[in-house]
Amino acid sequence: MSKAIKKSPWVVHFNCNSCNGCDIEFLACLTPTYDVERFGVLHVGNPKHADVLVVTGSVNHRNKHVLKNVYDQMPEPKVVVAMGACPATGGIFADCYNVVGGVNQVIPVDVHVPGCPPKPEAMMDGIIEAVGILEKKRNGEAVNPPVLPVKVVKGPEAPAMTPEMAAKIAAAKAKAAAAKAAAEAGNNANEEPKAV
Ligand code: SF4
Repeated sequence: MSKAIKKSPWVVHFNCNSCNGCDIEFLACLTPTYDVERFGVLHVGNPKHADVLVVTGSVNHRNKHVLKNVYDQMPEPKVVVAMGACPATGGIFADCYNVVGGVNQVIPVDVHVPGCPPKPEAMMDGIIEAVGILEKKRNGEAVNPPVLPVKVVKGPEAPAMTPEMAAKIAAAKAKAAAAKAAAEAGNNANEEPKAV
């Protein structure tokens, strides 16, 4: 059984919330060009059948529960591979109001594959690393925590609203409302009176 899993890891893919760049690259691994199945890797749809969870995209407050649910359904031992910058830190979406950040804030991550998006070759390397970790977990050996491949850099805080900015916004809104009202009045004037 151990040998079978080592030779043929079953992988389930979960996309949290991404630009789909990583998903396209991951699907490219399954095409005849890269043909990851020649290494025995099987892409499955049911987490209960999977040994490796591949996550793409940044986790948000809505899908973090789904991600945790998918992870919990997988049988032990299992390995999580975070593909790309988004599941590592939130990536370019890190500062969005609904984004939690990296996948490791919801479930434990075993392998980080750097890139935005990573190349299919790097993704295949990540899966092969995951198989090694899976074997270690099965044998009860210690597994080193993964190294985060990117540095988290926070942008400057947005400036606070000043009275001048608030006045400009209010004036722009009033101007837009007046233009809309004028346009509607013009349309009504052009309408032919209805026959009574
Ligand atoms: S890491 Fe880059 S390519 Fe991948 S989902 Fe995020 S933004 Fe898109």
